[in-house]
Amino acid sequence: PQGSTVSDLAELLGVPANDIIKRLFLLGTPLTLTESMSDDLIELVADDLGRDVKVMTKEEENSFSFYDNPEDLKPRSPVVTVMGHVDHGKTSLLDAIRHTGVAAGEAGGITQAIGASQVQINGRTITFIDTPGHETFTAMRARGAKVTDIVILIVAADDGVMPQTVESINHAKAADVPIIVAVNKIDKPGANPDKVRQELTEYGVIPEEWGGQNMFVNISAKKKQGIDELLESVLLEADVLELKANPDTFASGYVLEGKLDRGRGSVATVLVSRGTLHVGDALVAGLSYGRVRAMIDPKGNPVTEAGPSDPVEILGLSSVPNAGDEFRVFQDDREARDLADQRALKARIEEQNRVKHVTLENLFDTM
Ligand code: GDP
Ligand code: MG
Repeated sequence: PQGSTVSDLAELLGVPANDIIKRLFLLGTPLTLTESMSDDLIELVADDLGRDVKVMTKEEENSFSFYDNPEDLKPRSPVVTVMGHVDHGKTSLLDAIRHTGVAAGEAGGITQAIGASQVQINGRTITFIDTPGHETFTAMRARGAKVTDIVILIVAADDGVMPQTVESINHAKAADVPIIVAVNKIDKPGANPDKVRQELTEYGVIPEEWGGQNMFVNISAKKKQGIDELLESVLLEADVLELKANPDTFASGYVLEGKLDRGRGSVATVLVSRGTLHVGDALVAGLSYGRVRAMIDPKGNPVTEAGPSDPVEILGLSSVPNAGDEFRVFQDDREARDLADQRALKARIEEQNRVKHVTLENLFDTM
């Protein structure tokens, strides 16, 4: 638990307290037996002793949905990523989807300003993450970031299953995210949507009508055919998943992208997973922290709050966080700043250790 003392940790790890005190001294943070250690220091020392310890804060404990009272959980909208082989139509599909939203006259103008977008269909919202290419998806997963509820796998009907199609399937399966297949370019003369269905069975992606688990929708992103049906399939899948989150708590979620903007400083696009994020909140994202100075929604409008499944661009962080970093809101900004500082210290120590480990012997291994 948070606030554990040196002797608590010694007992937990079953090592002499002196060992821990010695290591703390070497790390430049001398502490006595009864003093409490910061989370990161606990993890760092444990790691030093070859043990894997993860300190759970109240917020983190809360971040597991089973810590929410069931009656606090409210339905949230699905978050979708479009994946597929290059040139199979990812960008065209996202364009067509945004157009659908505009044409339906519900969501108003939808832009791509922040690398994520939201569309309205049948009075419900779907969030699309525009950026995660394969690399980002992998990086996010490696950090344990879960930012996608549903993958739309796009496969061109004139080209069929290609290497990145298979990669996309592997990513989605590893992340345990359901796949809806959009068989694209059905307007093309050489299009053979049934061949795509046949090919995909080899990879365990099997149409419902063949007794499998996956919804398939034939579309033409270019001619904007089948788009509504595809979006309705997303809503159906979302209903099956019963997506829920507690909106009435401190916000947490993940960084989708971070950049340095000349005029605005550090700009991060985040996806809220839980709770509600407000302007003025103190938060930590990876190694950076700060108070949210302003928030911009996917349409480019300033907003004062963002709830579960909402992507939002935030200004006011001390530095630029990385895609996949978790963010968390703290009750006061000193707490946020301390955690960010501890993490920065830990990162520096790890970097030093990494450099130290490159000796003449293993130098040649790395060449
Ligand atoms: P991405 O690489 O997956 O983002 O693919 P793009 O959306 O950039 O599309 C690649 C090419 O395929 C572009 O020239 C598109 O115009 C074309 N394309 C995309 N969807 C369709 C479609 O439904 N029908 C036809 N005929 N062409 C399409
Ligand atoms: Mg593209």
